[in-house]
Amino acid sequence: MKIAFIGLGNMGAPMARNLIKAGHALNLFDLNQAVLKELAELGGTISSSPRDAAQGAELVITMLPAAAHVRSVWLNEDGVLAGIGKGVPAVDCSTIDPQTIRDVAAAAAKQGVAVADAPVSGGTGGAQAGTLTFMVGANPELFATLQPVLAQMGRNIVHCGKVGTGQIAKICNNLLLAISMVGVSEAMALGDALGIDTSVLAGIINSSTGRCWSSEMYNPWPGIVETAPASRGYTGGFGAELMLKDLGLATEAARQAHQPVVLGAVAQQLYQAMSQRGDGGKDFSAIINSYRKPAIEGQR
Ligand code: NAD
Repeated sequence: MKIAFIGLGNMGAPMARNLIKAGHALNLFDLNQAVLKELAELGGTISSSPRDAAQGAELVITMLPAAAHVRSVWLNEDGVLAGIGKGVPAVDCSTIDPQTIRDVAAAAAKQGVAVADAPVSGGTGGAQAGTLTFMVGANPELFATLQPVLAQMGRNIVHCGKVGTGQIAKICNNLLLAISMVGVSEAMALGDALGIDTSVLAGIINSSTGRCWSSEMYNPWPGIVETAPASRGYTGGFGAELMLKDLGLATEAARQAHQPVVLGAVAQQLYQAMSQRGDGGKDFSAIINSYRKPAIEGQR
């Protein structure tokens, strides 16, 4: 299949590589010439604009940093909608607010094009391994068309509902993850301060009612889970800046829906303070350092 792939960064490039490996012909566009050159050597074709990439494509995929990039890549004069053929399926995999993708989809519908949102979880490791989870917002026909192609980049392809619901699923999950990590951090640091062995405490939590993914798989206390970022200096996981971006999307969506997100707002401020201290590049589980005594700073 001829696929236009636009946005070839940390996530997009390995996703595109998996599609090339699966035998698709890719029209590639990004502002970064180096990545275009690298992917062209694997067999892709370099395009001069999103419009150029979309022309003649049988499917269009975008993977961009934020909503402003999505709007410009899709809606500008030289954007995707200026080049895409009528009836060609299209999907944006960026993590953005639900309203932006609904606006793009509404503009596309005027010219007979159905657009889906399919944000992902699984990080760069999942993008490389082809094991991403895609949370897809699309009409049923478009979902059926996209499913086999997304399955070449991911393991779980979940239909969440109509366009925009993929983003809703993603931001609600990450809102809860941000809060649960703060909760586990608070409990682990309190236990330590009161004098219990943290591995004993983690064992109790993980066999009791406090158990959650943040305590069991990704415990923020160093040494509890050997594979967790906490056990390697909070490197190589899900950066606090990315979590802050998702919390911003969640709190803004909540504002638009007049819905309170009290704990989410507190968590957002804690990660904001972490970022302001210069720790935004660390894994988000380093939020536990907001609770740990300076006396053990050297261990962080
Ligand atoms: P990135 O910044 O590494 O890549 C974005 C790419 O888009 C870059 O190559 C950039 O040059 C390109 N780009 C920007 N503006 C463009 C334009 N106008 N035209 C063409 N290309 C343009 O970002 P990423 O880490 O690949 O993330 C992409 C999306 O996936 C984001 O929305 C992010 O929140 C989401 N996401 C990232 C991760 C992760 O672990 N990195 C995990 C899940 C979801």
